[in-house]
Amino acid sequence: MIQKITEDIWFTPYFKETDRPNLGYVRGSDASVMVDSGNSPAHTAEYLSELERKGLPFPSYAFLTHHHWDHTFGLPSLDDRVVSIAGKNTNRELRKQQKYVWDEEHLDEYCVDNRIPLFCRPHILLEYPDMSRIVIHTAKLEFEGELRLDLGGETAVMRKITSGHSDDCYYLLAEKAGVLFLGDADSEEVVGTDWIDHETELAQEIRELEELEFRCCLTGHAELRTKEELLNDLRARLNALRTGWEG
Ligand SMILES: [Zn+2]
Repeated sequence: MIQKITEDIWFTPYFKETDRPNLGYVRGSDASVMVDSGNSPAHTAEYLSELERKGLPFPSYAFLTHHHWDHTFGLPSLDDRVVSIAGKNTNRELRKQQKYVWDEEHLDEYCVDNRIPLFCRPHILLEYPDMSRIVIHTAKLEFEGELRLDLGGETAVMRKITSGHSDDCYYLLAEKAGVLFLGDADSEEVVGTDWIDHETELAQEIRELEELEFRCCLTGHAELRTKEELLNDLRARLNALRTGWEG
């Protein structure tokens, strides 16, 4: 069920079993943007029908926060109806994944060298009973530095953020409302079934977030948090890393 953050900012909530992330929505008077494109055409279709149920306009844009399957594999099902947007590094990683063969045997091979973390394997198999249906698209619009989209009464600002999760984490900030969509940039790197924190990147990410003006933040797989709650969670992890204390 779609949930409201403000009159113009919504999201469909994450679902652990198949690792579906929160999918965001920002509406302006002229255009609207979807944040992340879903982990499958089924996930994307569910999101779109929730928008329709609330009478919210079909998104003009779909922005990808990073390349991971759960945030991007739904894109082909709406790519002919939206302008898809991604940072340069995200498209670079998607191009690599386009060369993969999607069946169980190859998935096992990719899990061995962590091209796909083992953590993802059961989720992918559950979401895709027929993996041959997986198609990967890159985003049509690729940017470096900062991209600003005037949606009419709201501006979506997209920019790269340092994160240990992956080298292609980008955020979307609904500037007027102060709502930040952070993708998985708050997360550790996933290696196999382990979540590995990186001290340098985490410290840098905290500094970048401290400087950024926002009121609340929605990440891929967690509840909505205030800026302070998000920063406190990240600081606690950094502190644990520095003191060697597992909190
Ligand atoms: Zn991710």
